[in-house]
Formats: sequence, structure tokens, C-alpha cells
Amino acid sequence: MPVTKAVLFDLFETLISEYAGGVRKASRSNKGNAERLGLSHDVYRREWGAAHEKRMTGQFADYFAVMRHLLKGQQVKVDDRVVKELYEERVLEKKAAFQGIDPEVIELLRRLKQEGVKLGLVSNCTEEEVHAWPDCGLAPYFDEVLFSYQAGFAKPDRSIYNLACDRLGVKAEECVFIGDGGSDELNGATRAGMKAYHAVWYLPLEMRDKITGHPKLERPLQAMEEIRRS
Ligand SMILES: [Mg+2]
Repeated sequence: MPVTKAVLFDLFETLISEYAGGVRKASRSNKGNAERLGLSHDVYRREWGAAHEKRMTGQFADYFAVMRHLLKGQQVKVDDRVVKELYEERVLEKKAAFQGIDPEVIELLRRLKQEGVKLGLVSNCTEEEVHAWPDCGLAPYFDEVLFSYQAGFAKPDRSIYNLACDRLGVKAEECVFIGDGGSDELNGATRAGMKAYHAVWYLPLEMRDKITGHPKLERPLQAMEEIRRS
């Protein structure tokens, strides 16, 4: 069994959460977004969803390009003011997730660093979702940060895990991946040759058992025991 030289973490719902006590931290609901853009809610949701892969892999220059594409496809005139407002609201909404980080998460990162384990972040995200990253309490612990929109690949594509390993200078089998399981990231990590753990500490009960086949970590520090054992 190879010694664990690096741990890769997912960001949303693993290190940080958009929810506290089952309620979204961001006070504003984005229900009215479609109407403000001049679209029906269903069309907006469908088109936003259809653009997902391209958004995550940086195939749009930015949020504004996504919106121009989306509105043009529906023959709706772009209102730059509304798009700018929505962008700024989205930045704030995502910033809220960086508040109230579980102190045990920070403690886990601190202990891993202390033991000489390298840390990598592998997050499927777009530019406007991670404005708060550089100034958050987690950033100083990480040796490498891979945001999918910059990397050009998104989980579960093997390429993003490989890229993380290359940047950290480790082999996949020396890496452990920890995530809440969104984007099929745990199976992706396993296919890339890593041991994957299912982080459930932020997940509501009904979500925890939707993913099977990967050992669960009930609390962040449980990862230390698992890694020591490997
Ligand atoms: Mg996640």
C-alpha cells in the first residue's frame, strides 16, 4: 500500500457549505432571475443546465458570455444592467458559503500539513463562484488549486485529477480524494487511480446514502485515521 503523499479536496459541501442548519446561507432567493432577464423560469433553468459543462470547463469567457449566449439563443435582448446585477448577486451568494466553515475542517488541513502531506483543491466551478477563495481561511493550506474553469477540465474527467497529481508531483496511487460526491467526483477519482472518501459532514441525512461504494467520513478528522492506516 503506497503512503499517502497528497490529499485532494472538493470545495463546495466538502470544505465549505452553502447551507447552515438546512437553510441556505445566502439570504436572497434566485427564483426571480429568469423573469428579470425576460425568460420563463423553465427555459432559464433548462438553458442554464444545458450550458453546465461548458461553463465548468471555461468554454465561456465569463458569466456575461454565458448570459449573452443564453439570451441570444432565446432571441431575448440582453439587458447589460440586469446581467451585471445578477453577476454581483451571484458573487455575494457564493461568498456566503465561505462563512461559518466547520473548525474541524481547518484542523484537518492543519494536521495534514503538519504531517507533510501536500494539499490540492479540485473544484468544479466558474469564476464568479470563488471570489472569496483567496481570502478565506482555507487558502493558505493549499499547495495547488485547480478550478475547473481555469483547468479546462471538470470532474469526473480523469484529466483534472491527473493535472492535480502532476502539479503536486505525486502519483495517483499516492493520492487520496475527499469530497461530498457531487459531479460523480468519487468515481472519477477512483478511475484515476486514487482512493476516494465520501465526506458526509455537511450533507443532510437524505443525501448521505445516495452515494455508495466509497468509505464515508462522518467527521473531518476521521480522515486522519484513514490516512494513517493507509
Ligand atoms: Mg461538492
